[in-house]
Amino acid sequence: MASLYEDSIALIDEIKEYLSGYPHIVFEKLKEPDRIITVKFPVKLKDGVTILTGYRVQHNSVRGPYKGGIRFSPMVTLDEVMSLAFWMSLKTAVADIPYGGAKGGVVVDTKKLDEQELEAVSRAYIRAIFDVIGPQKDIPAPDMYTTEQVMEWMVDEYSKIKKEFTPAVITGKPIKIGGSQGRKEATGLGGFYILEQLVRDYDLKDPTIAVQGFGNVGYHFAKFAHEQGYKIVAVSDSQGGVYNKEGLDIEYLYEIKQETGSVINATRYDPITNKELLELDVDILVPAALEGVINKENAKNIKAKFIIELANGPLTKEADTILDEHNVIVVPDILANSGGVVVSYFEWLQNIRSEVWSKDTVFEKLKLKITRSYQDVKKTADKYKVSLRKASYILAVKRIADIMLKKL
Ligand code: GLU
Repeated sequence: MASLYEDSIALIDEIKEYLSGYPHIVFEKLKEPDRIITVKFPVKLKDGVTILTGYRVQHNSVRGPYKGGIRFSPMVTLDEVMSLAFWMSLKTAVADIPYGGAKGGVVVDTKKLDEQELEAVSRAYIRAIFDVIGPQKDIPAPDMYTTEQVMEWMVDEYSKIKKEFTPAVITGKPIKIGGSQGRKEATGLGGFYILEQLVRDYDLKDPTIAVQGFGNVGYHFAKFAHEQGYKIVAVSDSQGGVYNKEGLDIEYLYEIKQETGSVINATRYDPITNKELLELDVDILVPAALEGVINKENAKNIKAKFIIELANGPLTKEADTILDEHNVIVVPDILANSGGVVVSYFEWLQNIRSEVWSKDTVFEKLKLKITRSYQDVKKTADKYKVSLRKASYILAVKRIADIMLKKL
C-alpha cells in the first residue's frame, strides 16, 4: 500500500502535463522536502521523565520562510507530517502569501496530560527545534490538539532562549501577547466564504449541509453559516453526532459540547453516527476533522454533491478518484482551509510592523484573499477542464516553480 506521502505527491505527476514548459527537476524537487528533523527529547511527566519523539518537516521555502502548524497526537507519524508539510507549501502558494511550507508534530496523547505536563511538552519541543525556527526562517502555528495556550508557552520558551521577546516566531497566539483578532475564527470563516462562492457559482438554493468535526474549525464554519441562514442538518465530534432535518441550533450545540464534552448529549435532536453523517443525503458535506475519513470503503456511498475539505486530507486518493468520477465537486483542503494560514500571515505582519488590526479589517482582508484564491482556482479548472483539486495544484506548482527556476 502506498504511504500517505506517496499518495500526496502522486498528484505532482498528474498535473505535469499542464505545465509542460518547466524542467523535470522542478517537479522532482517538489516531491522531496528540503529538510526532515526528528527530535527525541526528555520531558518530566507525573510518572517520571519520558523521552518523546517530535518532528519538523520543512518542505519548501522558495517563496518565503517555512510556515505550518504543530500537531500533538499519539497518531503522529513522520509520513503524516511530511504530507502535511507538502500541503502547506501548496496552500501558501494557492493563497499567494510569501511563505513556504512546513509542519511539526509530537507523538503524545494530550488527553492523558495535565496542564503542567502539556506546558512541559510544549516548552521541551521548542527547545529541541529552536535552531531551525525563527520569524524569518520557520514560523509554527496551531494544528490538531495544540491551542492558543500552547502557542503562548512556545513563544515564551523561544523568547527566553533568544533573550528577546519574539512574538513573530509563532502565529495563533493569544491576543494579549500579539495574536491577531480573528485568527481563532479564520479557518472556519474562510470555509464559509468558500461556501458563498459555491452557492453563487453553482446557483445553489437553500443547500443542506452536514459538518463532520465540531472542534475550532467545524464549529466556526457551522456558526457563520448558521448565522447567515444556512441549514446545518448534522454535526458530529469524535463521540458521534446529531441530526435534524429542519436544521440545528449551533450555539446550543456549542454550549452542550462545552458543558458535557460532546454534541451527542444534545437530546433535542436525533443521534447519528459519524459514518451515517458522511453518507447523508445532503447538498454539501464538510469534513472538518481527520485525514482519510472518506476512503474507498465509503466513497461510493457519499450522496453530497459538494464537499468542502476543512480538514487536511479528509479524502484518500482512491476516494478522490471515485468522487470525481461521480461528478462531486470537491473544494480541496489547500484552498478550502487556507483561511487559517492567511490570518496567520496577517498576525505575523502585525507583529513585524508593530500594528494592531481590528477584527473587521481581518475579516474583510480574509474575504478578499480567499475569494480571489477560489476564483483563480476556478478559472484554472475551467481552462484545463480539470477538478478544483488538480487546478489548485497546477496553480500552486506554477507559482512555486516560477520562483524556483530563478534560483536554480
Ligand atoms: N495548521 C493550520 C493548517 O493546516 C494553520 C497553519 C498556520 O497557520 O501556519 O493550515
